[in-house]
Amino acid sequence: MISVADALDALFDLVDPLAAETVDLRQAAGRVLARGVHALRTQPPFDASSMDGYAVKAEVVEQDALFKVIGEAAAGHAWDGTLGPGQAVRIFTGAPIPAGASFVVIQEDVDRKGDLITITGAPDKDNIRPAGGDFKTGDVLTAPRRLAPADIAVLASMNIAQVPVVRQPVVALISTGDELVMPGETPRPDQIIASNTFGLAAMLENQGASVRVLPIARDNPASLSQAFTLAQGVDLIVTIGGASVGDHDMVADVAQQSGMEQAFYKVAMRPGKPLMAGRMGNTPMIGLPGNPVSALVCGTVFLSPVLRKMLNQGTAPCATRPARLAAALPANGPRAHYMRAKSSDAGVSAFASQDSSLLMVLSEADVLIVREPHAPPLAAGETVNVIDI
Ligand code: AMP
Ligand code: MG
Repeated sequence: MISVADALDALFDLVDPLAAETVDLRQAAGRVLARGVHALRTQPPFDASSMDGYAVKAEVVEQDALFKVIGEAAAGHAWDGTLGPGQAVRIFTGAPIPAGASFVVIQEDVDRKGDLITITGAPDKDNIRPAGGDFKTGDVLTAPRRLAPADIAVLASMNIAQVPVVRQPVVALISTGDELVMPGETPRPDQIIASNTFGLAAMLENQGASVRVLPIARDNPASLSQAFTLAQGVDLIVTIGGASVGDHDMVADVAQQSGMEQAFYKVAMRPGKPLMAGRMGNTPMIGLPGNPVSALVCGTVFLSPVLRKMLNQGTAPCATRPARLAAALPANGPRAHYMRAKSSDAGVSAFASQDSSLLMVLSEADVLIVREPHAPPLAAGETVNVIDI
């Protein structure tokens, strides 16, 4: 049995960051930017008005100053002339500041009669957005980063219509078990619905993977090896279930017959001990335990960091943060324990039942308390590390 940290290192060794590809800006949200992108424009491209008002020369802005309005500038409609002393141009938000103007008096600070305006307030702010105030031609949106909505807007305003992104890892999910049917089907009395398959698919897609849910493999070698054949060409194969040592657990055997070189088999953690990993030809393969909570916790602890490496986002374990315990915890045994817990103003408290088959408990949980092997008992008020889930 190896530690969680050693297992994660072995998993990182199995995968490499994927190559870049180019996608349309509209397809780029949530993808990982593959390299820094240089702005093709300066934004704003000209000094622009940030308010509706009157453009004038700054030197003459004072209460009761009088101006003649000689033109109009609106967004998308520059005024082409040059402003002289005593002159004003009616201007609207987003319009270029006319040549000769250096101040925008907001319309609320002006009294207008026909073509004449008088300043009624005491304006102190020029209401001009300088050219390049946001970014300049050649400025860089740095990589790697997962493109958030604001990043997409930046790329758009840089006039980047085609975006270099890291290719999405294609992950094959293989559920195994004679007892499983797909959601929507009618199970026999001795069957259940494949559930964590769909939880994992959601988790992996959230991380940026493209997931193929393969047909359920039955607990016989022919069915499993057929599933492995169907999975050919993907970037990562993930099996669920059939990973322990029962008579019907044949993932390890069949994977080995299909050429898997096993990197490790068991990890010192709860839930999730029977976790295996290796390489089938060139394809990394991870075998998750079948118990729903085990599978999803292993997804958080192992699959997500592995995907991040494939997406060129480094090799860090999943993030933890300190949290206050709302209720005492007993000493931990020899395996790391990822306890389903709920947070409140009082802190985090572990659910009474930590059985690895209870999906409802996992669904109610918002954090996993990470207990290191042999961690001592803790009292309420002490600090633990948690993973937000
Ligand atoms: P196994 O690892 O195949 O022995 O499975 C352990 C437990 O998890 C058994 O109770 C299985 O019925 C259950 N199980 C396995 N795979 C799934 C799945 N994809 N969805 C829901 N439960 C599963
Ligand atoms: Mg099974």
